Amino acid sequence: METITSVSQMQEFVLAARQQGKIIGFVPTMGYLHQGHFSLMEEGRKCCDLLVLSIFVNPTQFGQGEDFDSYPRDLSRDSKLAASAGVDVIFAPTPEQMYPDGCDTNVHVAKLTENLCGASRPGHFDGVTTVVSKLFNIVQPHKAFFGMKDFQQLAVIKKMVNDLNMTVDVIGMPIVREKDGLAMSSRNTYLTANLRQQGLSLVDSIRKVIARAQAGEKCASVLITMAKQRIAQEPDAVVDYIQICHDQTLKDVACVDEHSVILLAVRFGLTRLIDNHYVLREL
Ligand code: AMP
Repeated sequence: METITSVSQMQEFVLAARQQGKIIGFVPTMGYLHQGHFSLMEEGRKCCDLLVLSIFVNPTQFGQGEDFDSYPRDLSRDSKLAASAGVDVIFAPTPEQMYPDGCDTNVHVAKLTENLCGASRPGHFDGVTTVVSKLFNIVQPHKAFFGMKDFQQLAVIKKMVNDLNMTVDVIGMPIVREKDGLAMSSRNTYLTANLRQQGLSLVDSIRKVIARAQAGEKCASVLITMAKQRIAQEPDAVVDYIQICHDQTLKDVACVDEHSVILLAVRFGLTRLIDNHYVLREL
Protein backbone atom coordinates (compact mmCIF):
# COMPACT_ATOMS: atom_id res chain seq x y z
CA MET A 1 0.00 0.00 0.00
CA GLU A 2 1.25 3.47 -0.91
CA THR A 3 0.63 6.71 0.92
CA ILE A 4 0.60 9.81 -1.26
CA THR A 5 0.40 13.32 0.12
CA SER A 6 1.01 15.40 -3.00
CA VAL A 7 -1.84 16.32 -5.33
CA SER A 8 0.29 16.05 -8.48
CA GLN A 9 1.68 12.64 -7.48
CA MET A 10 -1.82 11.37 -6.86
CA GLN A 11 -2.93 12.63 -10.28
CA GLU A 12 0.05 10.97 -11.99
CA PHE A 13 -0.63 7.71 -10.18
CA VAL A 14 -4.27 7.48 -11.25
CA LEU A 15 -3.50 8.63 -14.79
CA ALA A 16 -1.14 5.65 -15.17
CA ALA A 17 -3.77 3.31 -13.69
CA ARG A 18 -6.44 4.62 -16.04
CA GLN A 19 -4.09 4.14 -19.01
CA GLN A 20 -3.77 0.51 -17.95
CA GLY A 21 -7.56 0.24 -18.09
CA LYS A 22 -7.99 -0.11 -14.32
CA ILE A 23 -11.32 0.66 -12.65
CA ILE A 24 -10.62 3.13 -9.86
CA GLY A 25 -12.66 3.00 -6.67
CA PHE A 26 -12.58 5.85 -4.18
CA VAL A 27 -13.56 6.15 -0.53
CA PRO A 28 -13.31 9.72 0.78
CA THR A 29 -13.02 10.00 4.59
CA MET A 30 -11.78 12.21 7.36
CA GLY A 31 -9.92 9.26 8.85
CA TYR A 32 -9.93 7.68 12.30
CA LEU A 33 -11.30 4.62 10.56
CA HIS A 34 -14.02 2.37 11.93
CA GLN A 35 -16.29 -0.42 10.64
CA GLY A 36 -18.51 2.09 8.82
CA HIS A 37 -15.53 3.10 6.68
CA PHE A 38 -14.62 -0.59 6.32
CA SER A 39 -17.92 -1.44 4.66
CA LEU A 40 -17.19 1.24 2.02
CA MET A 41 -13.64 -0.06 1.50
CA GLU A 42 -14.84 -3.66 1.25
CA GLU A 43 -17.42 -2.73 -1.38
CA GLY A 44 -14.78 -0.76 -3.27
CA ARG A 45 -12.35 -3.67 -3.09
CA LYS A 46 -15.00 -6.00 -4.56
CA CYS A 47 -15.84 -3.97 -7.63
CA CYS A 48 -12.69 -2.00 -8.49
CA ASP A 49 -9.11 -2.76 -9.59
CA LEU A 50 -7.46 0.10 -7.72
CA LEU A 51 -8.83 1.29 -4.39
CA VAL A 52 -7.98 4.79 -3.20
CA LEU A 53 -8.84 5.97 0.31
CA SER A 54 -8.54 9.65 1.10
CA ILE A 55 -7.97 10.86 4.63
CA PHE A 56 -8.44 14.59 4.88
CA VAL A 57 -10.00 16.57 7.70
CA ASN A 58 -11.33 19.33 5.50
CA PRO A 59 -11.21 22.70 7.29
CA THR A 60 -13.75 24.37 4.99
CA GLN A 61 -16.63 22.13 6.05
CA PHE A 62 -16.26 22.97 9.75
CA GLY A 63 -17.99 26.04 11.14
CA GLN A 64 -16.57 28.36 13.78
CA GLY A 65 -16.59 26.72 17.19
CA GLU A 66 -16.91 23.23 15.65
CA ASP A 67 -14.44 20.41 16.29
CA PHE A 68 -11.90 20.88 13.46
CA ASP A 69 -8.94 21.15 15.86
CA SER A 70 -9.99 18.31 18.15
CA TYR A 71 -11.15 15.93 15.37
CA PRO A 72 -9.30 12.61 15.98
CA ARG A 73 -6.32 12.10 13.68
CA ASP A 74 -3.99 9.08 13.61
CA LEU A 75 -2.50 8.29 10.22
CA SER A 76 -0.33 5.39 11.37
CA ARG A 77 -3.33 3.67 12.99
CA ASP A 78 -5.43 4.32 9.87
CA SER A 79 -2.67 3.05 7.55
CA LYS A 80 -2.63 -0.36 9.26
CA LEU A 81 -6.41 -0.62 9.10
CA ALA A 82 -6.55 0.52 5.47
CA ALA A 83 -3.90 -2.03 4.47
CA SER A 84 -5.92 -4.77 6.15
CA ALA A 85 -8.98 -3.69 4.16
CA GLY A 86 -7.06 -4.03 0.89
CA VAL A 87 -6.64 -0.33 0.10
CA ASP A 88 -3.99 0.27 -2.60
CA VAL A 89 -3.34 3.94 -2.02
CA ILE A 90 -4.02 6.35 0.82
CA PHE A 91 -4.26 9.94 -0.31
CA ALA A 92 -3.55 12.08 2.74
CA PRO A 93 -2.86 15.69 1.75
CA THR A 94 -2.40 18.60 4.16
CA PRO A 95 -4.77 21.59 4.01
CA GLU A 96 -1.91 23.57 2.41
CA GLN A 97 -1.65 20.98 -0.37
CA MET A 98 -5.39 21.05 -0.96
CA TYR A 99 -5.78 24.83 -0.74
CA PRO A 100 -2.40 26.33 -1.72
CA ASP A 101 -4.06 29.44 -3.15
CA GLY A 102 -7.00 29.67 -0.78
CA CYS A 103 -10.36 28.65 -2.11
CA ASP A 104 -12.13 31.31 -4.16
CA THR A 105 -14.20 28.78 -6.11
CA ASN A 106 -17.13 27.08 -4.49
CA VAL A 107 -19.47 24.32 -5.57
CA HIS A 108 -22.92 25.03 -4.16
CA VAL A 109 -25.85 22.65 -4.44
CA ALA A 110 -29.07 24.58 -3.82
CA LYS A 111 -32.36 23.27 -2.36
CA LEU A 112 -31.15 19.92 -0.96
CA THR A 113 -28.75 21.80 1.32
CA GLU A 114 -31.38 24.12 2.80
CA ASN A 115 -32.88 21.75 5.37
CA LEU A 116 -31.46 19.55 8.18
CA CYS A 117 -27.64 19.84 8.57
CA GLY A 118 -27.63 22.57 5.92
CA ALA A 119 -29.80 24.70 8.19
CA SER A 120 -27.96 23.89 11.41
CA ARG A 121 -24.42 24.06 9.96
CA PRO A 122 -24.34 27.05 7.57
CA GLY A 123 -21.66 26.68 4.87
CA HIS A 124 -21.00 23.04 5.75
CA PHE A 125 -22.23 21.56 2.48
CA ASP A 126 -20.39 24.11 0.33
CA GLY A 127 -17.24 22.89 2.06
CA VAL A 128 -18.21 19.28 1.41
CA THR A 129 -19.21 19.63 -2.25
CA THR A 130 -16.19 21.77 -3.05
CA VAL A 131 -13.70 19.38 -1.46
CA VAL A 132 -15.39 16.31 -2.94
CA SER A 133 -15.24 17.97 -6.39
CA LYS A 134 -11.54 18.62 -5.87
CA LEU A 135 -10.97 15.04 -4.69
CA PHE A 136 -12.87 13.68 -7.69
CA ASN A 137 -10.69 15.80 -9.99
CA ILE A 138 -7.54 14.56 -8.27
CA VAL A 139 -8.43 10.86 -7.90
CA GLN A 140 -10.51 10.55 -11.13
CA PRO A 141 -12.51 7.61 -9.77
CA HIS A 142 -14.94 5.49 -11.76
CA LYS A 143 -16.85 4.66 -8.56
CA ALA A 144 -17.04 6.50 -5.23
CA PHE A 145 -18.47 5.07 -2.02
CA PHE A 146 -20.35 7.06 0.59
CA GLY A 147 -22.27 6.06 3.72
CA MET A 148 -25.99 6.55 4.26
CA LYS A 149 -25.06 7.60 7.80
CA ASP A 150 -24.63 11.05 6.20
CA PHE A 151 -27.92 10.77 4.35
CA GLN A 152 -28.12 14.40 3.27
CA GLN A 153 -24.47 14.44 2.18
CA LEU A 154 -25.06 11.42 -0.06
CA ALA A 155 -28.12 13.05 -1.65
CA VAL A 156 -26.24 16.33 -2.19
CA ILE A 157 -23.24 14.60 -3.77
CA LYS A 158 -25.45 12.55 -6.10
CA LYS A 159 -27.18 15.77 -7.17
CA MET A 160 -23.87 17.55 -7.74
CA VAL A 161 -22.54 14.66 -9.84
CA ASN A 162 -25.71 14.62 -11.90
CA ASP A 163 -25.96 18.40 -12.35
CA LEU A 164 -22.28 18.83 -13.27
CA ASN A 165 -22.14 15.77 -15.55
CA MET A 166 -19.37 14.19 -13.53
CA THR A 167 -18.69 10.67 -14.76
CA VAL A 168 -18.22 9.05 -11.35
CA ASP A 169 -20.75 6.47 -10.18
CA VAL A 170 -21.78 7.36 -6.60
CA ILE A 171 -22.65 4.33 -4.48
CA GLY A 172 -24.41 4.63 -1.09
CA MET A 173 -23.83 2.01 1.60
CA PRO A 174 -26.02 1.24 4.66
CA ILE A 175 -25.25 2.54 8.15
CA VAL A 176 -22.97 0.29 10.18
CA ARG A 177 -23.88 0.18 13.88
CA GLU A 178 -22.26 -0.99 17.08
CA LYS A 179 -23.81 -4.13 18.62
CA ASP A 180 -26.04 -1.96 20.82
CA GLY A 181 -27.24 0.05 17.83
CA LEU A 182 -25.16 3.23 18.08
CA ALA A 183 -24.26 4.36 14.56
CA MET A 184 -20.48 4.16 14.16
CA SER A 185 -18.71 7.49 13.95
CA SER A 186 -15.19 8.78 14.50
CA ARG A 187 -16.82 11.29 16.87
CA ASN A 188 -18.01 8.47 19.18
CA THR A 189 -14.49 8.51 20.62
CA TYR A 190 -15.33 11.87 22.24
CA LEU A 191 -18.11 10.31 24.31
CA THR A 192 -17.73 9.43 27.99
CA ALA A 193 -19.39 6.15 28.99
CA ASN A 194 -22.30 8.13 30.38
CA LEU A 195 -22.81 10.25 27.25
CA ARG A 196 -22.42 7.20 25.03
CA GLN A 197 -25.23 5.54 26.97
CA GLN A 198 -27.37 8.64 26.47
CA GLY A 199 -26.47 8.58 22.76
CA LEU A 200 -28.28 5.25 22.40
CA SER A 201 -31.50 7.28 22.66
CA LEU A 202 -31.09 8.11 18.95
CA VAL A 203 -31.43 4.54 17.74
CA ASP A 204 -33.98 3.83 20.46
CA SER A 205 -36.18 6.70 19.34
CA ILE A 206 -35.85 5.53 15.71
CA ARG A 207 -36.96 2.03 16.75
CA LYS A 208 -39.97 3.46 18.59
CA VAL A 209 -40.95 5.59 15.60
CA ILE A 210 -40.67 2.62 13.23
CA ALA A 211 -42.80 0.44 15.52
CA ARG A 212 -45.49 3.13 15.86
CA ALA A 213 -45.50 3.81 12.09
CA GLN A 214 -45.80 0.10 11.36
CA ALA A 215 -48.68 -0.05 13.82
CA GLY A 216 -50.50 2.48 11.62
CA GLU A 217 -49.51 5.97 12.79
CA LYS A 218 -48.77 7.93 9.62
CA CYS A 219 -48.76 11.48 10.96
CA ALA A 220 -45.17 12.76 10.88
CA SER A 221 -45.64 15.31 13.67
CA VAL A 222 -46.96 12.64 16.04
CA LEU A 223 -43.97 10.41 15.26
CA ILE A 224 -41.52 13.31 15.67
CA THR A 225 -43.05 14.21 19.04
CA MET A 226 -42.54 10.61 20.14
CA ALA A 227 -38.88 10.73 19.14
CA LYS A 228 -38.41 14.10 20.89
CA GLN A 229 -39.99 12.74 24.08
CA ARG A 230 -37.61 9.78 24.06
CA ILE A 231 -34.55 12.02 23.52
CA ALA A 232 -35.76 14.42 26.23
CA GLN A 233 -35.37 11.64 28.81
CA GLU A 234 -31.59 12.08 28.53
CA PRO A 235 -30.24 14.80 30.82
CA ASP A 236 -27.50 16.05 28.46
CA ALA A 237 -29.33 15.79 25.13
CA VAL A 238 -29.83 19.00 23.18
CA VAL A 239 -31.75 18.45 19.95
CA ASP A 240 -30.39 20.11 16.84
CA TYR A 241 -33.18 18.68 14.68
CA ILE A 242 -35.51 15.71 14.47
CA GLN A 243 -37.38 15.68 11.18
CA ILE A 244 -39.10 13.29 8.82
CA CYS A 245 -38.28 14.06 5.20
CA HIS A 246 -38.76 12.72 1.71
CA ASP A 247 -35.69 10.68 0.74
CA GLN A 248 -35.16 12.52 -2.54
CA THR A 249 -36.28 16.12 -1.95
CA LEU A 250 -35.26 16.14 1.76
CA LYS A 251 -38.33 18.29 2.40
CA ASP A 252 -40.40 17.70 5.54
CA VAL A 253 -43.42 15.49 5.03
CA ALA A 254 -46.79 15.60 6.79
CA CYS A 255 -47.67 11.90 6.27
CA VAL A 256 -45.18 9.08 6.12
CA ASP A 257 -44.86 6.67 3.20
CA GLU A 258 -42.15 4.38 1.85
CA HIS A 259 -40.01 7.43 0.89
CA SER A 260 -39.99 8.87 4.42
CA VAL A 261 -36.78 9.01 6.44
CA ILE A 262 -36.43 10.16 10.02
CA LEU A 263 -33.24 12.18 10.51
CA LEU A 264 -31.85 13.24 13.86
CA ALA A 265 -28.98 15.44 15.03
CA VAL A 266 -28.55 15.66 18.78
CA ARG A 267 -25.75 17.09 20.92
CA PHE A 268 -24.51 15.28 24.00
CA GLY A 269 -22.14 17.66 25.70
CA LEU A 270 -19.78 18.85 22.95
CA THR A 271 -20.46 15.83 20.72
CA ARG A 272 -23.01 16.09 17.95
CA LEU A 273 -24.42 12.74 16.84
CA ILE A 274 -26.49 12.10 13.73
CA ASP A 275 -28.58 9.12 12.71
CA ASN A 276 -31.38 8.28 10.30
CA HIS A 277 -33.55 5.48 9.02
CA TYR A 278 -36.45 4.86 6.67
CA VAL A 279 -39.61 5.07 8.79
CA LEU A 280 -41.33 2.10 7.16
CA ARG A 281 -38.32 -0.23 6.98
CA GLU A 282 -37.03 -2.66 9.60
CA LEU A 283 -33.96 -1.59 11.52
P1 AMP B 1 -16.25 10.57 7.69
O1 AMP B 1 -14.85 10.08 7.85
O2 AMP B 1 -17.03 10.59 8.97
O3 AMP B 1 -16.32 11.86 6.91
O4 AMP B 1 -16.99 9.50 6.81
C1 AMP B 1 -16.47 9.07 5.58
C2 AMP B 1 -17.51 8.24 4.88
O5 AMP B 1 -17.85 7.13 5.70
C3 AMP B 1 -18.82 9.01 4.62
O6 AMP B 1 -19.31 8.64 3.34
C4 AMP B 1 -19.70 8.53 5.72
O7 AMP B 1 -21.09 8.58 5.40
C5 AMP B 1 -19.25 7.09 5.87
N1 AMP B 1 -19.60 6.59 7.19
C6 AMP B 1 -19.29 7.15 8.40
N2 AMP B 1 -19.85 6.44 9.39
C7 AMP B 1 -20.53 5.42 8.82
C8 AMP B 1 -21.32 4.34 9.33
N3 AMP B 1 -21.53 4.17 10.62
N4 AMP B 1 -21.87 3.49 8.43
C9 AMP B 1 -21.69 3.66 7.10
N5 AMP B 1 -20.94 4.65 6.57
C10 AMP B 1 -20.37 5.52 7.41
